[in-house]
Amino acid sequence: MSKLEDVVSLCKRRGFIFPGSEVYGGMAGTWDFGPLGVMLKRNMMNAWWGFWVDKRDDIYGVDAAIIMNPKTWEASGHVATFADPLVECKECHGRFRADKLVDGATESITTEEFLKAKVKCPTCGKFNWDEIKKFNMMFQTHVGPVMDDASIAYLRPETAQGIFTNYKSVIDTIYPNMPFGIAQQGKAFRNEISPRDFILRDRECSQMEIEYFVHPDSWEEEFEKMRKEQHEFLEEVIGLPAEMIHELDVPAEDRAHYSKRTIDMMFDYPNGEEELMGLAYRTDFDLSNIQNASGKSMEYRDKVTGETFIPHVIEPSIGVERLFLAILTAAYQEEDDRVVLKLPENLAPYKFCVSPLLKNKPELVQKAEEVYKALKEKYIFVTWDDSGNIGKRYKKQDEIGTPKCVVIDFDTLEDGTVTVRDRDTTEQKRVKIEEL
Ligand SMILES: [Zn+2]
Repeated sequence: MSKLEDVVSLCKRRGFIFPGSEVYGGMAGTWDFGPLGVMLKRNMMNAWWGFWVDKRDDIYGVDAAIIMNPKTWEASGHVATFADPLVECKECHGRFRADKLVDGATESITTEEFLKAKVKCPTCGKFNWDEIKKFNMMFQTHVGPVMDDASIAYLRPETAQGIFTNYKSVIDTIYPNMPFGIAQQGKAFRNEISPRDFILRDRECSQMEIEYFVHPDSWEEEFEKMRKEQHEFLEEVIGLPAEMIHELDVPAEDRAHYSKRTIDMMFDYPNGEEELMGLAYRTDFDLSNIQNASGKSMEYRDKVTGETFIPHVIEPSIGVERLFLAILTAAYQEEDDRVVLKLPENLAPYKFCVSPLLKNKPELVQKAEEVYKALKEKYIFVTWDDSGNIGKRYKKQDEIGTPKCVVIDFDTLEDGTVTVRDRDTTEQKRVKIEEL
């Protein structure tokens, strides 16, 4: 098994991530977070919000609707350009992303370039391709009871536009000083032609994005600052090893249509290097488009100098699932006789597991319940386990990343100490209950 398969298997076995709608045979490109997964995911999202919003004075939050006025996606360029090159096999009618079948190809691959590569159909092995078509990845729906062109709407393909469309309301209500940012976490949808690589390329995902509004003259300086802060977040707050993160300065032809500079933070995932997050300089592309399309001014007036201008934007954008898989990849380790998730303490679903050494000794169980209640009150994220033998309990807690296991035994009744077993070193220490 590859490491990715090991991680997928652990996620399912221990209740982190299940295939979407599994009871009905699944739904391609969708995944559900289970009891442990939702805890890790929330810890991670809260760590992001804490670092970027709560602890700072210059970034504010919004939570916009998923279904937005379709003019949003015309102005943003998504209706015209948010598309992947789709190629269909005329023999078996299999549909593929053309750029993924040709080594080193980009999304702008032409039919001519594709045919020159002489790729055979991965499904039927024949060579009989149709022209490449641009396939728009936005999920389309209808709003209201009438299904006609006038009622078309889209599930948002990014959270960013929910920020840009609220920019004016934010400056009119809280009058922030420049530079300032607006942050949002939420669902985004992309109708991927071929979802794959577990949660890396799924059709429904969550994003955490910030649009940081700056004076046009200072974008380079702010971009550099943001780039350093991204590393601080990924390495110090989330605890990803710096050596697994690689910066990629994205060349002009590969950048999204709105960006003048992009640095992708690549991560060493189990199946190779993949994008973890992007840092993009979006210029005034979005605000100017909104100003043109809505007829409303998007200018910012400097409180001190009185200068008016349309701010430029630096955007750090990170996918929740991508970060989740990066955390699991870094944490997952196979040692001689165990699998262990060495999750940072601030992210682990549970901080402690409490158990009585023996389940059939009422005095031990009672004492253990007391300790459990006290720890639960103090740390909230505490779990109880009295199943199987102590070895099996350690094995389970190692696999879900619980940093400390607390065991109550007969000595506890005598001297008020418990055994604390460390997940990473497997060392055991006697500790007084009050010192936990
Ligand atoms: Zn075929």
